[in-house]
Amino acid sequence: MFHKHYETLRIKMIVMTLGFSLIPLLALGVTIYYQFNNTFQNKITESLRTLAQNRKSSIELFFDERISQLNTIAQTHSFERLKEESFLTKVFNVMQSRSKSFIDLGVIDSDGNHLAYVGPYSEKLKSVNYAHEDWFQAVQSTGVYVSDVFLGFRKVPHFIIAVTSVENNRVWILRATINSAIIDEIVSGAQIGKRGDAFIINRKNILQTTPRFAGNLLESPNSPDFSSSRGTTIELMSFKGEESLYGAIPISNPQWVLVIREDPQEEMALLSGAYYTEALILGFGVILVILGTVFTTRLMTRRLIEAQKDKAKSEDLMIQSSKMAALGKMAAGIAHEINNPLQIIGDQAGWMKDLLESEDIKKSENFEEFDQCINKIERQVNRSREITHRLLRFGRRMETTQEMVDINHLLAETITFLENEAHFRDIQIQTEYDELLPKVSTDPNQLQQVFLNIIDNAIDAVGQSGQLRIRTSTDLKDPKELVVQISDNGPGISKEALSKIFDPFFTTKRADEGTGLGLSISYGIVEKLGGHIEVESVEGKGTTFYVRIPNV
Ligand code: ADP
Repeated sequence: MFHKHYETLRIKMIVMTLGFSLIPLLALGVTIYYQFNNTFQNKITESLRTLAQNRKSSIELFFDERISQLNTIAQTHSFERLKEESFLTKVFNVMQSRSKSFIDLGVIDSDGNHLAYVGPYSEKLKSVNYAHEDWFQAVQSTGVYVSDVFLGFRKVPHFIIAVTSVENNRVWILRATINSAIIDEIVSGAQIGKRGDAFIINRKNILQTTPRFAGNLLESPNSPDFSSSRGTTIELMSFKGEESLYGAIPISNPQWVLVIREDPQEEMALLSGAYYTEALILGFGVILVILGTVFTTRLMTRRLIEAQKDKAKSEDLMIQSSKMAALGKMAAGIAHEINNPLQIIGDQAGWMKDLLESEDIKKSENFEEFDQCINKIERQVNRSREITHRLLRFGRRMETTQEMVDINHLLAETITFLENEAHFRDIQIQTEYDELLPKVSTDPNQLQQVFLNIIDNAIDAVGQSGQLRIRTSTDLKDPKELVVQISDNGPGISKEALSKIFDPFFTTKRADEGTGLGLSISYGIVEKLGGHIEVESVEGKGTTFYVRIPNV
């Protein structure tokens, strides 16, 4: 019942402490997790955005450079000169010396006639008329034209840049073919990680560069359609059941769209290290909190139980001592009451004895009988008086006094209290008193209590059939002390118990037989009286207590 109460209290304490400490800890862990996740995802999208913008700028710069190169040639040289093939070859060689990406260069008049051409297909292209081609129309209206990528005769991906110039109100066109390998190179710089991809599509969703995974050049890519994108798109999208992070950014001229694909798993993998560390710290924290809580609550409840037990015992003790005090008073009262009639009976018996001395009664044939009766009455009255005196002394034991005490006498009296018990258990009490023992100034009542405790313990230890030896002497080494030696041939005290027998509440007896207070109280009393208690014990042989009393 007692322990069950503390067990529920302990569980309540554990649950409450764990609740108060673990909930904030876990809340903190979850918040950190989400914050971290968000920040990292933002970082991933931001870096994808920056990557897409950088690549877009590089591609646009590439086109701007080529267009302005062609424009410079068209503006700085006359149509007449450029249509001379030898001059056009010179110009082409200069251009190629700066950039190998130029494949050929041609001059076309306003009617679409290819007037001059430098490049690998001079036979095929020289006499071609472009008047009906789409790009011819387009360049005339916009001034600059960049074609989509196509394979051409040599099956090498390339595209056309054409610019116009006006001379004498006549428009003519400078047209160059450019190898698109450079564009592929710029785009491939954005193919990050093991599964990342990057490619360019035109406005009809046809691949203009060769992707790593997303399909083949000049086909539609295996990705969501970004061909109509107007602004930058950064989005987590699913395509054919596979989720990827896509970044799409339109390029202004030509009207293409750069698409970059990243594997979110691969990007987030970097974060998993941080998650593991967080989980580890959190797990460690949780274990520490649980262990700490269990440990401290166990400690606290143990202390509480001990305190409660101590309290209960000291309450028991107080009840016991107040009972004893009441008993002492009662005994003294009764003894006092009985003493008076006893006194009268004794006096009357004495008077009767005196009367028996008179002549007539002496002659009576019952004189002997009378005399014996009166003697018996006197003996029994004396015995009763002895008992009432003892009771009176017992009553007085509660008060502390200081008087000259004959220790031998005090011991003899104490033994009389326990004689019956010893006799009943077939225990002999041998005494060996030092007849020359001096009287000492001490508290006889308290000292008697000490002797009672020790002799009582000895009788308990012997149990049945044994011997007790009580000896008094002056200490030869230190004549300032008297020694009372109380030995028994009981089972002795184990080494482990020997160090504890003077501790309060230490007992090896059943709860209803021993309180564990006798020796601790005795120890306190003897110390207070200026003396000392020592013990020697051999297991299996017996125990001897030495009570040393100052010889003053
Ligand atoms: P209690 O008698 O109530 O147990 P005490 O303080 O008087 O308390 O004694 C403490 C313990 O010391 C006893 O329980 C017992 O184990 C041990 N003890 C005391 N005297 C003897 C003795 N003469 N022989 C063996 N054990 C003893």
